[in-house]
This record gives sequence, structure tokens and C-alpha cells, in this order.
Amino acid sequence: MSTRHPSPGPEQAESNRLLSVNDLRTDIRTDQGTIRAVDGVSFEVGRGETVCLVGESGSGKSVTCRSLTGILPEPPADVVGGSVEFDGQSLLEADDEQLRRIRGDRIAHVFQSPQSALDPVYTIGDQLVEAITIHNTASAARERAINLLRRVGIPRADSRIDDYPHEFSGGMCQRAAIAIALASDPELLIADEPTTAVDVTVQARLIELLRGLTDDGTSVLLITHDLRVAAALADRLLVMYGGTIVERGPLEELFDRPAHPYTQALFESYTGCSSRGDRTARRDVPTAGCRFRAECRHAVDTCVGGEQPPSYAVGDRETHGVSCVHYGPDRDPTPVLADAAAARPVSTEGDDD
Ligand code: SF4
Repeated sequence: MSTRHPSPGPEQAESNRLLSVNDLRTDIRTDQGTIRAVDGVSFEVGRGETVCLVGESGSGKSVTCRSLTGILPEPPADVVGGSVEFDGQSLLEADDEQLRRIRGDRIAHVFQSPQSALDPVYTIGDQLVEAITIHNTASAARERAINLLRRVGIPRADSRIDDYPHEFSGGMCQRAAIAIALASDPELLIADEPTTAVDVTVQARLIELLRGLTDDGTSVLLITHDLRVAAALADRLLVMYGGTIVERGPLEELFDRPAHPYTQALFESYTGCSSRGDRTARRDVPTAGCRFRAECRHAVDTCVGGEQPPSYAVGDRETHGVSCVHYGPDRDPTPVLADAAAARPVSTEGDDD
């Protein structure tokens, strides 16, 4: 099988592009030395699109997303290169005040731990109204706050709005944190494992809520290690390993034909062959050659030196890219693709709830 395209095509038409990340690199200083946590990451998010970053814990998903809007503590973190453009504006060159305004108005974050978003000394309503009054009068803000709590599924929202966070369950706190994030009607919601700390019933409601956002035109950048959540929400998947994106493409395409050996290993966890998706990443990922080569069942001599392989198109599918030497010019990826059928993780049908 020959590769007609040396690299995958653009992910979004320029007119539809909301977020564009190019060659992003972020270092983290530790007592043991400096780690390149994000290593040459590039991707785009279109308007009204849900892009999902998947990979095991420690693969660089969260650091990537926190690098975009300047919320990583510096030090120990340091965004050392690349570019991030949001609706044509460079975020890496924006000053603190510009970033604060963008985060409060146009880009919102939701984190896995709602406790980090909620202040225990203020009621849920106070915290919501504070986020809303930037754009509304006090009475209109309270009414909108109640509606937001209803929208995220808080029962008896008109009375529960005056509760403190400790009076909410973990799932309700997560829903309240999402309500606060939505208060400014953001154009982009960056949600980091938002459904991990909740039970399956609440998870289904949150998935429904997130799906409804994109129907309204909001873009979502979702981080998850849970492929079922990704299957229910994503338009496109980005698979991360060792701080770099090793495979990218439309959801159906990746689920039907996972092409990278790491993606196949990750997906096998959903066919019961391993629990790879819940794993924490290795700390001894090679810094030269392919990051995955120490674990790869298809590694060859050319995987050892130089840079991480570029992203090659899989066959004639311009939107499906894979960072593996077997997909390069004059190579035959047939033996690697033969593993795709066994690795197919879950059907995306029937995951609507
Ligand atoms: S480049 Fe080599 S080590 Fe990396 S995934 Fe491909 S075959 Fe495996």
C-alpha cells in the first residue's frame, strides 16, 4: 500500500477555524531535571466542533490544554515555543490582562475536580452571579444563574442556588462548575476529564449537556482517557503519547481503522485485552526517535534515531494522520493496519445516552 500524501491535510477550512495550535512546546522543571511535557503539538478546533484529546494519564493532554490560555504556573512550567491563535489573536503573545479577559469571556475551562472551581465560603449562586453580572443587572443575573443550574440538571435550582458547595454532592458540584464556565456563553469550552468524578447517570447528563453546546455553535476541546466519552462526543480524535500527538482523524475513521500501534494498544483496553487507558504514562519515554518505540510491537531500526516521525496520511485519507515510519513514503503499513480490526474499541452506535 503506497502513501499518496506525505502528510495529512488541514483539519479545518480557514473560515471555520477558531483555535489553531502549532508546534507547541512546554517544559516542566522538576527536582530530577526538565521534562518536555508537550513536544511539538499541532491541531485545530473548528467553530461548533468537538475535538477530543485521548491518551493515558501523564501523556501531556492536560498540560497541552493549560498551555493554551496561560493558566499553567510559571515556574515550574514554561511554554518554550510554538504558537496558539484564537480567532486570529495570538494567545502566547497576549498580556495577562488580555488573557484574563479572554478566559472570562470567550474561553472557559472546566476541570476534573470541581473543588478547584468552587469557593467554599460563597454560595453556588454568589459564584454564578459574579460570573454573570459582567454582562447583566443583579436581578437578571440571578434569574440567568437559576436557568443555568436548571440547564446542567440541578434539581430545585431556584432554592439550591443558595446552597454552599459543601451542601452539594460531587456530581452536583461538577455540574455547578460547568454552569459557571457557561455563564459567559464562551465560544470555546476546554473541559479536562469533566465526567471522571461522577457516577454513570450524571455522566450521561453531562454528555448530553456537552453535546447540546456544540449544537448551539460552541466549540469544545475535551480531554479524556475514557474512550466511551470520546465516542459519544467527539467529531475528531487526537491521540497523545509522550507529549506528542501520534494519531489524529475523524472519530469514525480512527475507531474503524486505528493505525498507530499506540492507538491500537489503547483501544485494546476497550476490547478487554488490557486496561491501558487507565494507566499512568511511563516516565522513561525516549527523547529521540519515536516516543513509543520502547513499547512498540512493530518497531524497526529506523524508529530509533532522529525526531518523532512526521504525521503521514493513512492511505488516501487526507484527514487521518499517523506519526509512524511504516506510513512514510515507500513503506508498506499493511502489517500494522492488520492489527486494526482486533483493536477496534467500541461501536459509536448506541452511545447516545
Ligand atoms: S515509528 Fe516505529 S516505534 Fe514508533 S509506532 Fe511506528 S513502528 Fe512503532
